[in-house]
Amino acid sequence: MYSRLEITVEPDKFWDHCGIFGITNHPEAARNVYLGLYALQHRGQESAGIVTSDGRRLHLEKGMGHVADFFDERKLTRLIGSHATGHVRYSTQGASFPRNAQPILIDGWRGQIALSHNGNLLNAAELRFQLERDGSIFQTTSDSEVILHLIARSRKETFEEALMESLSVVQGAYSLLIQTPTKIFAVRDPQGFRPLSIGKLDHSWVFSSETCAFDLIGAVRVRDVECSEIVKWDLHEDRLESIMIPKPPKPAHCIFEHVYFSRPDSVVFGKGVNNSRYQMGRILAQEAAVEADIVVPVPDSGLTAALGFADQSGIPFRFGLIRNHYVGRTFIEPKQAIRHFGVKIKLNPVAEILQGKRVILIDDSIVRGTTSQKIVEMVRAAGAKEVHMRISSPPTISPCYFGIDTPTKNELIASSHTVEQIREFLHADSLHFLSLAGLKRAVGDHKNFCTACFSEEYPLPIETGRSQLDLFRKET
Ligand code: AMP
Repeated sequence: MYSRLEITVEPDKFWDHCGIFGITNHPEAARNVYLGLYALQHRGQESAGIVTSDGRRLHLEKGMGHVADFFDERKLTRLIGSHATGHVRYSTQGASFPRNAQPILIDGWRGQIALSHNGNLLNAAELRFQLERDGSIFQTTSDSEVILHLIARSRKETFEEALMESLSVVQGAYSLLIQTPTKIFAVRDPQGFRPLSIGKLDHSWVFSSETCAFDLIGAVRVRDVECSEIVKWDLHEDRLESIMIPKPPKPAHCIFEHVYFSRPDSVVFGKGVNNSRYQMGRILAQEAAVEADIVVPVPDSGLTAALGFADQSGIPFRFGLIRNHYVGRTFIEPKQAIRHFGVKIKLNPVAEILQGKRVILIDDSIVRGTTSQKIVEMVRAAGAKEVHMRISSPPTISPCYFGIDTPTKNELIASSHTVEQIREFLHADSLHFLSLAGLKRAVGDHKNFCTACFSEEYPLPIETGRSQLDLFRKET
């Protein structure tokens, strides 16, 4: 006899980040942004928002939930105007409230300004303290809002100058779309931590975190917004103008976008994510060969690397784990505990594939190790004779301060355990991680990536970032 209660899926809680999308000069601007955000849903599932402009005023709709759940015909109809920007979010900083959803809209002496931010600012708490002391009243607990206050308080004459002045004091990761009634600005920080691409759709310019959103609406990728670049579009001129932030570009693109976050059908930092992941799998097979009967991916995160591993090793690829793609945030579970329920609701082993087999299990990363442990056990319980875990990135040893929500250092199993200790914890027959050199080779570039989560080499000093994050975390 079961009584029923609602539970929340824990593993997703602190993870994920944001996606941004914008379009100029289009009769169906809001609907295109809606579709763009729909294609970027994997980058943030907590809240969604769109702001449009009719040339005089901005119109905003935002709230909690998935894009397709929050927006309906009525809301989209209210979003009038021919240029629009939007945001999907899962909090990296700031609590999960409706008011923290983006775009954040303010109405100051410069007029209306809306901001969509992907990234994480290192000195937001410090700047916020100064701004509040000088009289600013914040509407959110999100780090992104400081940029708007800095613009609003700037004494510079033009909006562009005020934006440049504001960006010269913020530190950290920011890919931004900033919209006023007549303009859109697409901005990337000097390191270009997070992606942001420019596309073209007939007479419209399009901006997106990932190019998979261009594909959905039939737009074509033109180029990336460069590191330290502000790309300005003005309704009256209808062309793009490039302005540089007075900070030299120092590329440090997030390698984890290629390992895990971005969709494999996207071109990110000018490189196809699918190919990067495939190469990670191939190089992993060269570095950590093992005799086995089948290669099984942990779907979806391990899929592409597993294909590369299978092709390189000649060991057949099999779908030994099936993912339920329709798992929502909350669901009903029988009160009487079911072992590993949280993982089972998402993944189920295919016994007829695994029975009696020596299995190479491929996933992209190990963070806390708890999910992987349950998956190994599940594969064994389904009859696998041996389970060899292969991970298509190096051990995750350090938290990210640039917009990917990793847990604190002491929660990262690899920060305090050797590979052999992690293998024991997972109950795997063997465990290997891709080397850092192998990962860099797979993305075809040795210099321009931030690898801090794997190397602890941060491209910016993170002392402030650390205390900022603690400050925001306490509050959430
Ligand atoms: P665990 O074994 O608990 O460390 O979980 C590992 C799984 O988490 C792998 O399948 C990864 O793809 C996935 N993962 C790694 N980083 C993240 C992240 N930031 N957000 C969501 N899932 C992640």
